Amino acid sequence: MMNSTVEHDVDAEITVDVVVIGCGTTGLALGRLLELEGLRVAVIDRGRMPMARPRATHVDDETMRAFQTLGVRHLEKDFSPMGIYRHYDDKWRIVMRMDMNRGRTEQGWQSDYMFHQPDFEAVLRGYAYNYANGGTYFGWEVTSLKDAGDSVLVDLRETATALDRRIRASFVVGCDGANSGVREFMGCTQIDHRATHRSLIVDIIPLVAKDNLPPGRDAFIQGAIRNPLTFTRIAGPRVRFELMLRPDDDSAAFARTEKAYDVLSPWFSPEEYRMLRCDVYEWRSLTAGPWRAGRFLLAGDSAHTMPPHLGQGMCSGIRDATNLAWKLGRVVRGESPMNLLETYETERRPHVDTYTRLSARLANKIEALAASEEEPPLLRAEALRPRLGPGVGDDANELAGTLSSQPRTAGGRLLDDVVGYRFALVADPAVLSGTSDRTKSLLETLGIHVLQEFSGEVRDWVTGLGAAAVIIRPDRYLFGTAGDSAELDVLVAALGTSLLPSAMSAS
Ligand SMILES: Cc1cc2nc3c(=O)[nH]c(=O)nc-3n(C[C@H](O)[C@H](O)[C@H](O)COP(=O)(O)OP(=O)(O)OC[C@H]3O[C@@H](n4cnc5c(N)ncnc54)[C@H](O)[C@@H]3O)c2cc1C
Repeated sequence: MMNSTVEHDVDAEITVDVVVIGCGTTGLALGRLLELEGLRVAVIDRGRMPMARPRATHVDDETMRAFQTLGVRHLEKDFSPMGIYRHYDDKWRIVMRMDMNRGRTEQGWQSDYMFHQPDFEAVLRGYAYNYANGGTYFGWEVTSLKDAGDSVLVDLRETATALDRRIRASFVVGCDGANSGVREFMGCTQIDHRATHRSLIVDIIPLVAKDNLPPGRDAFIQGAIRNPLTFTRIAGPRVRFELMLRPDDDSAAFARTEKAYDVLSPWFSPEEYRMLRCDVYEWRSLTAGPWRAGRFLLAGDSAHTMPPHLGQGMCSGIRDATNLAWKLGRVVRGESPMNLLETYETERRPHVDTYTRLSARLANKIEALAASEEEPPLLRAEALRPRLGPGVGDDANELAGTLSSQPRTAGGRLLDDVVGYRFALVADPAVLSGTSDRTKSLLETLGIHVLQEFSGEVRDWVTGLGAAAVIIRPDRYLFGTAGDSAELDVLVAALGTSLLPSAMSAS
């Protein structure tokens, strides 16, 4: 429980740029990106150990691209692409078939994977520990927060020893999950999108091979029964059965181990698997606001939660992190004014709301599909690619705020590996050389990486957009595009106006 009034005996005060409270997927991703920004970061989690059992299992291609930036691509060899999703009615008649595997996409990765969250968290905790400019507090609980005007004070206590610490920081980001204490401290309100459900989640590792389950990486949902049942293969040998509870179902009764044995009995007898989890979760669709109050910010589940039907809760939290880290970097270094942080919520909130509303609709509709007598056509899943809300983008440009592609450069490297976590300009050299001296010096002032090639996949992508130059933001969304040198002059000037303190931009 956090409060703003209790003072602790503090034997040592540590000063950092950013305190990240919560080391779930959001906080660990944010901590790593702040490290790439060169900031001093403290990451805190009440859990001493990385989580042992996965919650999130699905990663999309955009998030895999973020994993690439975070330095966890080596785990991809153990991720599994997804297969076909079949939706059955109560008599096991097929209602719908959806191929979830769109192969390698313009993001440079497979469209959708199943992954193992504990491995991801373990690697990122290790990076945080190794980071010379960082401090890790695993097994520490944040007990109070205080706004000290030009800084914030975070008091924490080691659970095992009752040792107290105080950290002074320029900013605090609450990545502390759905029951966020930081959100409470900030006095946020929440919008309820009205899709509250409970599910029993049973994860197992089968100890015997079974041929009565869907082949390969295929999955199914059986709707139109009292408790709709979903089966998916999660990473490696693990499989997940998920049973949706009715409003009058008793959570405690469903969480009994015997219930899991019962649910799995059509496929496995109890001695044929090792049970990893048997928990009842409550899904809510909530959006908090505001996401920033002075030097306090929210990211991930603390800012928004959604039912799991699109597998986008974690992915959305990681998008928050990629959007926020470069902005905090610029503000802390004094390169941009504090109000750059306003654009975090204006951009991210409409984007995540698209997923939250759709997940809520799907959760409420899971039984509404009708079975047909014939095998339904195989539908192909489509990527949702919402546009960012207004913020750091060229307002006049219809591609601003859309997700960029990730082509391979002539040397065969993926674009983000060449660029790093920073702004990039990809331009036809003739167009670039025709720009003004002011543009060239502004590119330097803004620290924009200018890609030194314009051929093959890179050129095809840019010209395919009907452009001769594009500016990509560190979070891989487009700032804007230009068709010639004069337009590029205007585009770079607009970027300067968005990022630089007004005095500098006017000079
Ligand atoms: C069963 C299930 C399946 C899901 N499947 C998917 C999926 O397939 N794909 C997907 O994208 N998403 C999925 N999600 C959603 C996803 O798991 C969450 O959106 C994501 O994990 C949220 O991450 P987070 O880091 O924001 O919060 P959390 O993971 O909740 O992390 C918050 C952290 O803050 C710490 N903390 C809180 N308060 C304090 C304090 N006072 N002091 C110190 N530490 C504190 C906690 O210990 C915790 O580690 C699923 C969720 C569930 C439950």
